[in-house]
Amino acid sequence: MKGIRGTFLDFLADPYYTDETEAIRYLRDGLLVIDGEKIKDFGPWEQLSQRYPDLEVTTYKDRLILPGLIDTHIHYPQTEMVAAYGEQLLEWLEKYIFPTELQFRDKLHARKIADVFLDLLLANGTTTAQVFTTTFAQSVDAFFEACTERNICMIAGLTGMDRPGLAPEEYLDTAETFYVNSKDLIERWHNKGRNKYAISPRFALGSTQEQLDCCGKLKGEYPDTWVNTHMSENRKEIAQVAEVFPDAKDYLNVYERAGIVGPKFTAGHSIHLDNDCWHRMAQSDASVSFCPASNLFLGSGLFLIEKAKSVETPVRTGLGTDMGAGDTFSIFRVLNSAYKVSALQNQKMGVFKGLYLATLGGAKSLHLDHEIGSFDPGKFADFIVTNPKVTSVLAMRAARAAIDPGSSEEEQARERLAHEAFGMMILGDERPVEATYISGQLLYKKTSNLIG
Ligand SMILES: [Zn+2]
Repeated sequence: MKGIRGTFLDFLADPYYTDETEAIRYLRDGLLVIDGEKIKDFGPWEQLSQRYPDLEVTTYKDRLILPGLIDTHIHYPQTEMVAAYGEQLLEWLEKYIFPTELQFRDKLHARKIADVFLDLLLANGTTTAQVFTTTFAQSVDAFFEACTERNICMIAGLTGMDRPGLAPEEYLDTAETFYVNSKDLIERWHNKGRNKYAISPRFALGSTQEQLDCCGKLKGEYPDTWVNTHMSENRKEIAQVAEVFPDAKDYLNVYERAGIVGPKFTAGHSIHLDNDCWHRMAQSDASVSFCPASNLFLGSGLFLIEKAKSVETPVRTGLGTDMGAGDTFSIFRVLNSAYKVSALQNQKMGVFKGLYLATLGGAKSLHLDHEIGSFDPGKFADFIVTNPKVTSVLAMRAARAAIDPGSSEEEQARERLAHEAFGMMILGDERPVEATYISGQLLYKKTSNLIG
């Protein structure tokens, strides 16, 4: 057993629906007790330390310890192609992405990029992600092998894409090979260690009806797997989906007819949904991944976050970088974009709403909140140590916090927390992340302090 002492912030409830002061759990001097991979105990240092007198304790002074950040939508094979210039979705895929992903026929290359990718996630404080691969089974093997070595919780699966003409022929699979390979990969990887499998048709446009039906069949055979895909990202894409599925009522209906919409189904983007779609997403308990950095970079549109988090149509919502269409690996930078997307719709995304989406909200959107997302005992010890004053600018603005001198010491501490954490949400990236723990092990430690 070991202990971590410091200042902790996590969530007990969703601040979109609960008063913020009740939603957050803030321990100015807390103790996290770790037994092996998991959290054994969590509480104020003063009380808890007496119960564990012989505990070996690591203390992080003047730091903020958060549950690990959760990225609900990202593409590991696009790591080398992040920040590709000048195109919207369909042209971007053709010009940059398919040639890059074709290289993942080579398993050695896939493994090399998987290692780079996972190390980048750790350096950015991301401890769990829902990850797209390619149409090549070896790219899934390489990824899960790299995850297994780190004992990290990732959701991934073989990408399905069999519609002729939409990608180079050598990139496409068939409904049959997708079904057979997916089945084999599920048997070998799903729930092995912390690995979790997602049936992953790339997007409606990329698959024939036959392949989508295979997804439904796989989901029926393995009901506890995830389903991960894209939906309603780009206007041109949506128009083409309507053309190739003339019998479907709308984009969502293409997936509904395949029998894959329900709990553990995540639709990345979901930007251009009408009221009826929001109702059906809420009713079926499906999830969306809000990927604002990507949506701005590719010019796809503005996600309706207040609609997703409304009382009328509450939809499980997590954040996604969608790297390489997203121009970052950092969930803090995604929060920066999320704040601006909200601002463009005359709404405010406060720091606690943002950090909730990045942690417990993300875990709930993936149906993993019994394992990750907060410091509750029994969950895996996946967490990050951040320095909200790491850069000169963050330190300067922290010093200028307007704290009400008339309020209590506890209230002042919370105000300071909100001020500093918001600074990190807007100005942060990988720099505030000083340490990342996975399954109780320190897997990333920042070695130099960059000033910027
Ligand atoms: Zn994507």
